[in-house]
Amino acid sequence: MNSAPPVIQIDGLHKAYGSLEVLKGVSLKAPRGHVVSLIGSSGSGKSTLLRCCNLLEDSQQGEILFKGEPVKWKGTHHGRRPADPKQVLRIRTNLSMVFQQFNLWAHMTILQNVMEAPLTVLKRDRAEVEKAARGYLDKVGIGDKCDVYPAQLSGGQQQRAAIARGLCMEPEALLFDEPTSALDPELEQEVIKVIKDLANEGRTMIIVTHDMKLAADVSDHVIFLHQGLIEEQGAPDQLFGAPKSERLRGFLSATH
Ligand code: ADP
Ligand code: MG
Repeated sequence: MNSAPPVIQIDGLHKAYGSLEVLKGVSLKAPRGHVVSLIGSSGSGKSTLLRCCNLLEDSQQGEILFKGEPVKWKGTHHGRRPADPKQVLRIRTNLSMVFQQFNLWAHMTILQNVMEAPLTVLKRDRAEVEKAARGYLDKVGIGDKCDVYPAQLSGGQQQRAAIARGLCMEPEALLFDEPTSALDPELEQEVIKVIKDLANEGRTMIIVTHDMKLAADVSDHVIFLHQGLIEEQGAPDQLFGAPKSERLRGFLSATH
């Protein structure tokens, strides 16, 4: 039994951009060691939900808990934002985000990219960070690319560097937003392999993906979002094998 509180728990989250309601009461749990995938049409609120997890977005209503610790809010009747900068920093540094567009710093080498946040944000010892960074770059299969710049790498290599950068923060969980969407099919596979290895290691992850095979292969739980609400969720076998909702069936047949 896993009695520890989930790494991330969201209860009844509401989020609007102005008058546009994007999340209309969404709840999710990412227990330690579990992989949760978010699927759904473009515009359904997947990225917004993921960004809410690490407090990159303000919201209007609902709870966000990190390892059982509720986010403290300060609010007005228009909305609210996190009240405690130290809490925000603690949560954010424990949830590494990997973006569709890699977001590596172009003027830094791959090794410098991976070392930057542990050095500047966590203020860790340089020699230890370098050793760890080289280890993570080896782990994702680009240990020989330490001294090159991002532009000299393929998209798949850049995304693996971004994953190594996330790992080097030694986070409690990794959050992926469409990690393979910017890649050519042959490069997608090398990134998928890294994500599968991380899942097998028991990493806690939330993955927004359009790749139903990836979601089916790595997830413990899959959530189908439709217009800011969870339309259906469950184990991947159930969700992909026996979808109940008409909308999910339509979505799955459109993504084949
Ligand atoms: P998804 O990732 O599922 O494609 P998003 O979470 O990116 O969906 O977007 C959900 C909705 O919120 C969309 O209608 C989108 O246009 C809108 N949206 C996203 N970001 C912003 C923003 N910064 N300002 C205003 N509207 C936004
Ligand atoms: Mg998105």
